[in-house]
Amino acid sequence: MDFQLNAEQREIRELARRFSDREIVPRAAEADRSKAFPVEVHQRAQELGLLGINLPESVGGGGLGCLELVLVTEAFCRGCLGIGTALCVNALATEPIVIAGTEAQRRRYLAAAAQGALASFAMTEPGAGSDVAGIRTRAERVSGGYMLTGSKIWISNANVAEFLVVFAKTAPDAGHRGMTAFIVPRASQGLSVGEPLGKLGQCAAPTCEVFLDKVFVPEDHRLGEEGSGFELAMAVFDHSRPMVAAFGVGLIERCIDEALAYATERRSMGRRLIEHQAVAHKLAEMRMKLEAARLLTYQAAWLLDQGRPNTIEASIAKAFAADAAMWAATEAVQIFGGMGYSTEYPVEKLFRDAKVLQIYEGTSEIQRNIIAREMQRA
Ligand SMILES: Cc1cc2nc3c(=O)[nH]c(=O)nc-3n(C[C@H](O)[C@H](O)[C@H](O)COP(=O)(O)OP(=O)(O)OC[C@H]3O[C@@H](n4cnc5c(N)ncnc54)[C@H](O)[C@@H]3O)c2cc1C
Repeated sequence: MDFQLNAEQREIRELARRFSDREIVPRAAEADRSKAFPVEVHQRAQELGLLGINLPESVGGGGLGCLELVLVTEAFCRGCLGIGTALCVNALATEPIVIAGTEAQRRRYLAAAAQGALASFAMTEPGAGSDVAGIRTRAERVSGGYMLTGSKIWISNANVAEFLVVFAKTAPDAGHRGMTAFIVPRASQGLSVGEPLGKLGQCAAPTCEVFLDKVFVPEDHRLGEEGSGFELAMAVFDHSRPMVAAFGVGLIERCIDEALAYATERRSMGRRLIEHQAVAHKLAEMRMKLEAARLLTYQAAWLLDQGRPNTIEASIAKAFAADAAMWAATEAVQIFGGMGYSTEYPVEKLFRDAKVLQIYEGTSEIQRNIIAREMQRA
């Protein structure tokens, strides 16, 4: 067993960390206030080759694996979870095409993404989030393709995406077997995107409603066979959950940086905060959770890169990192005392940003359902 990253992975991690310190950290507070997609950071990360690293080389991507994606993601999210999410969610949206796309779909859409085009993954609906199989968006067969009608909610980057991967029902009575995925250009007639939704945190990553009113999608924009959409989505989550776990790892590390610096500086009752055991133990516990979350995340990504099943490991990593991140952010606020509640200090933002990690990409409860289900299979 080798716990070391190789030379290339170390280089990628250092490049991403330097980029995050230089380009993301200084912009985080303003991006949070302005609630706008971080165009400039995206452009610079693209120029440096830090985006699309897991897209195939044949379409202009980096040709690297999930572990390298995790390293970059972790570094970005240590800088700002909102900006990190805005930049990294393309990997979720493009994965269905990596897995199931035809050569023509890959050449057109993955090549565009490798050049910096943004994409969205459109599954969730007002009436169906955890209940993926319960989506109601309908894809009816018409001459030459399909007509999509329905609505989606909470779709990350939908207002800036060039194309969306939309999941819809081709056979509404067939449960999860009736679901199919489609590539839908945002400029398609009948597709409209609402204003970014107001939310607690991760404000630099816009999330919008998407309305589909008889949107024609040509047959060659279907991903895989009719009815393969549910299975495809589950395969995508095996790829994307390690990345979302890395969101949490980055955030925990930032909580430690901020809380350790404050606890070393601030004095109470004649001692530095860190000299009070109650505070020191919180920091120690944060470090323990960081190490555990990171190892679980790297393991889930590494298994995938080895072509081995990682469903249970990806869910464990995602649930553990998300819960640990929320806990670490809460304790970071506690260590800062009143200043932790102030918008003048960065920890209130860490606290707001952390919460959604337990909600999106499968809630913490859904991850536990998956873990328990997989345990029964073993
Ligand atoms: C900021 C943000 C960004 C997002 N980005 C995207 C995106 O890009 N694309 C996309 O498709 N979606 C996206 N989502 C949607 C997200 O994936 C869903 O919100 C999430 O899956 C939960 O679904 P829900 O909101 O409908 O909650 P519900 O499914 O209604 O769940 C409500 C509560 O009930 C619990 N619950 C539900 N069913 C069960 C069960 N069977 N067992 C135990 N507990 C259960 C849940 O864990 C949760 O606590 C995003 C959401 C947010 C907030």
